[in-house]
Amino acid sequence: MSVRLLLQRKSGDIVTISPQASLNEAVACLAEHRIGAVMALSAAGQLEGILSERDVVRILAEKGPDILTSPVSSVMTRAVVTCTPDEAIPVIMERMTRGRFRHVPVVEAGKIIGIISIGDVVKHRVEEMERESAELRDYIMTA
Ligand code: AMP
Repeated sequence: MSVRLLLQRKSGDIVTISPQASLNEAVACLAEHRIGAVMALSAAGQLEGILSERDVVRILAEKGPDILTSPVSSVMTRAVVTCTPDEAIPVIMERMTRGRFRHVPVVEAGKIIGIISIGDVVKHRVEEMERESAELRDYIMTA
């Protein structure tokens, strides 16, 4: 299955934040939308970085709660690894495993069209395995 098909099955909006927003605002955004990472977009809609809950936990442990008034841009990862909608899910799984991150923004013609999380990938894989085993059961029963 392609990333595009997986995105079509997902519900919900694309959640983004300004790199100038505070970490406090970013934490509220993650909590409100029940997500683990948020993409930081410039006013022009360019992907400037990604901020994950792990970044927040790490900086809190290092600097303490006063850091939460700092901008997202001071903590986010700038070198964001992305994918295109036509790539296959196993390729994205491999990218996540190699890069040790759980979120991959999907970019088409320079525009963000969604984000794939490890949760989406695992859900897809479990469904695929269930389908395969049902097909095998049917095959054995009717053989
Ligand atoms: P995650 O596992 O996605 O919560 O993120 C772990 C670390 O990788 C954090 O420092 C994130 O900022 C960073 N990160 C998350 N997604 C990406 C990505 N697609 N490309 C590069 N870094 C990322």
